[in-house]
Amino acid sequence: MREPILLTPGPLSTSLATKTAMLSDWGSRDGAFNALTAKVCRQLVAIAGAQASHVCVPLQGSGTFAVEAAVGTLVPRGGKLLALVNGAYGKRMARIAGAIGRRVSVYEVADDARHDLAEVAARLAGDPAITHVGIIQCETSTGILNPVAAIARVVAQAGRRLIVDAMSAFGALPLDAREVPYDALIASSNKCLEGVPGMGFVIVRHEALIAAEGNSHSLALDLADQHRHLRRTGQWRFTPPTHVVAAFASALDQYRDEGGQPARLARYAANCAVLCSSLEDLGLRRFLAADVQAPVIVTWHAPEHPDYDFKRFYEAVRARGFLLYPGKLTRVETFRVGCIGAIGQAEIRQAVAAIRAALLELGWLSELEAAHAARSFHEAA
Ligand SMILES: *Cc1c(COP(=O)(O)O)cnc(C)c1O
Repeated sequence: MREPILLTPGPLSTSLATKTAMLSDWGSRDGAFNALTAKVCRQLVAIAGAQASHVCVPLQGSGTFAVEAAVGTLVPRGGKLLALVNGAYGKRMARIAGAIGRRVSVYEVADDARHDLAEVAARLAGDPAITHVGIIQCETSTGILNPVAAIARVVAQAGRRLIVDAMSAFGALPLDAREVPYDALIASSNKCLEGVPGMGFVIVRHEALIAAEGNSHSLALDLADQHRHLRRTGQWRFTPPTHVVAAFASALDQYRDEGGQPARLARYAANCAVLCSSLEDLGLRRFLAADVQAPVIVTWHAPEHPDYDFKRFYEAVRARGFLLYPGKLTRVETFRVGCIGAIGQAEIRQAVAAIRAALLELGWLSELEAAHAARSFHEAA
């Protein structure tokens, strides 16, 4: 049997070419590896449209390490972060700021809502201590797409700096540094660019990075130091995840060959459309309104059956070759299905068939379909 397909937002299913790129060993101080790092960074800055203004600083670890590095490097010790929260990753950014001793103010809205731009402006006007604003482009805990460009305008008008956690959006959802002003954009190898996990990176405005010298609370997470060392030696400061970088370089070449951001977005949007219409036909209901849903990961209400249990559902779908993702909401019982990774509509259709078969086996499908039929009847009436 083939290995399971990951309907998760990263790690996700990678292509055979990406996997086989990990079959070579690289010397971490060798010229060939340094060239590979430089090429990856050049490609990432180009994807961001940021060649004229920003540099790419790669960092070992998962995405959260890069978020902590960006906040710690860019927000001065006397600075203050306004965290715009509508889910778990926004909360995490606020928690990071607090953990490393930065002052933080939180503007939180419901998980299925977006921030009011006038309210953001009012909070910035009312608190001159705020130096930076943090926003999550795609809040992966639900899949909601936040309006980063509009928020960036408000932040720039108020003379403050923006930090964007674009982890689960970068490479698929557009965000062009020539149009949207930000100091830092944070992402990682293992989401929409379809590499394997192990490195994050921050696209950071060069002037902001120079000004951030000495801010960091941490040695290992100091992006200014990491960048200076890379510039001077071509090498990472500490052992790089060589195989991850090699796989990422291959994934980025495949990304370019596929047609870059527009093609990646089109594939994910088609995956998402097939997923949503097919699961809705089974009677499942989405958590988010369609107009705020990013084509990255979709949150579904759990079947309203007294026996519902995510673990049993997960195992029944897993036995058919697909990995679902648990919900991350405390108010309502949900589960999530990712539509990113090296998969297309064929895999999504197979996944829907697996979910249908699992629901049938567990005895939860007939109620769902009956409820769906009743809803359709009411809508028609
Ligand atoms: C994946 C992700 C992160 C990083 O999570 P890790 O588990 O540390 O990789 C941060 N923010 C968002 C929005 C994410 O989707």
